[in-house]
Order: sequence, then structure tokens, then C-alpha cells
Amino acid sequence: MATKGSMKTTRRKASSGGTGSRRVVDASKRAAVQPSPRGRESAAKRAERALLLSERLAEAQPKPVCELDFRSPFELLVATILSAQSTDKMVNRVTPALFARWTTPAALAAASQEEVEAAVKQTGFFRNKAKAIRETARILTERHGGEVPRDQDALIELPGVARKTANVVLGTAYGIASGVTVDTHAGRVSRRLGLTKEENPEKVEAALMALFPREEWIDTGHRLVLHGRYVCLARKPDCARCPLNELCPSAEAPPEGPWPQRAERERKKIESRGEAE
Ligand code: SF4
Repeated sequence: MATKGSMKTTRRKASSGGTGSRRVVDASKRAAVQPSPRGRESAAKRAERALLLSERLAEAQPKPVCELDFRSPFELLVATILSAQSTDKMVNRVTPALFARWTTPAALAAASQEEVEAAVKQTGFFRNKAKAIRETARILTERHGGEVPRDQDALIELPGVARKTANVVLGTAYGIASGVTVDTHAGRVSRRLGLTKEENPEKVEAALMALFPREEWIDTGHRLVLHGRYVCLARKPDCARCPLNELCPSAEAPPEGPWPQRAERERKKIESRGEAE
């Protein structure tokens, strides 16, 4: 996990590092676990299924990444605030010029609202976002010595920062497992997989935190986000080629081929940012 001191000067994709640690799935449980209709699965069965889902997701995404570009925790924090109601692709288009012009929290705090609005306009909701990142930069400068705090409570006090953003920053920039990142993709995938019925992201997160061990929280968040972005799409989930198919109560088509083959396809698709088929 990169920390500020080890950040490279070239822009890069963030990797949570992919711990590579796998929980061992008992063979008898592997054979017995099947998805149950929603609401009719015991907590114990759901926990066993979560273990198998975790195994398959880890195969499909050995080193899950946050797709926002950043070179420091500060850049990741700003990029994550800008990603609300936008796409990582769009944010990555905007941030190189933004961070080239205002290189530190102090510089961004001193910038005019109008100039920052123009710089982030393409990400949408630009007035609020410009205000939030300027104010965040000011608080970092005045209260945290220009550093991004490694503490969830302190992060959540910043404008434009809720639990999701705090989890992304702590997990991705510092390797601190403060929770499971739940965005719109992770929420949808979790519901389709029958891991929760909740719509509220914080309730979804609580369900995931109970199902997965703490050491898997960071990677699990990234994996669910990426699985939703590239395979379990909102309008057209690719169930036939999904490696989780046999374990998913929402599968809309029978699986094509063995799951490791489907996992390999997901890995290639994500690594190529959706170009590989
Ligand atoms: S089987 Fe379909 S609904 Fe279930 S996780 Fe995979 S793509 Fe999503």
C-alpha cells in the first residue's frame, strides 16, 4: 500500500495491493452451498456463501484497484469528492490540470471559487464541489498541517466527505480498513447477490462488514464496485459470463463454462478497462 512518502511522481492507478490471502473453503461446504431465494437463507448459510463469493471474486480480481488517478492522499481525497454523481473516467480527465495548477491544500484553499468551478465544471454539481474541495483544503491546511488525517471521524467532518469517501481514502491511500466502500455499484451487486436487502449504503456496508473479515474489507469494497461496473451492470448484467453465477439468487441466465474461466474473463475485462471481451 502506497503512503504519501512512497507515492510516485507519475500519475497512476491506485491498487489496494490485493492481499492474496484466501480463506480456505471446506470441500463439503463448497458442494452444499447454493443460493437461496431472498429472505429464506439462514445467516449461517449466507456467511458460507459469502466465503465462496469472496473466493471467486479474488480469483477474478487478484489486485483490485480504485480507478481514480492520484499521487497523494490529498489528491485521492479531492478526486473522490469530485467523483460524486460522476464517473472516475470524467474525474481523471479533470484532475491532472487541477492538481498541476494547485499543488497543495494551501494553494487550493487560496484559489478563487470561480477558478475552481471552471476547473471542475465537467464533473457536474461544480459549484458545490468547488466549494467543498476549497473548504476541505482550508481545513486540512489550518487543522491538520496540510495532511489528510488517518482518522475516519476527522475525515467525515470535512465538507463533501461521507463514510464512502472516508473508506476509499483510508483504505486506498493508507491501507486502513475502516469499512467496506459501498457506492451505487457495490450496493446493487450486494442486493443482487442476496447479501442484503438494504438500500441505504450505510446499512449495506454494515451487512458486508458482518459477512467479511476485516482484513478483506478494503479489497471486497473495490471488488464489488468493479464487478458492478464491468459485469453486473445496472441495466444488463452479464449473468451467463459472471463467475458468481451459481452462487447468485438473481442470475438471469445459466452459466457458460466453468467459473474459473469466467473469472479469467472478468480479470481481463477489468484490466483492459472494459476493452477485452
Ligand atoms: S449472476 Fe448476474 S445478477 Fe448475479 S452477480 Fe452475476 S451478473 Fe450480477
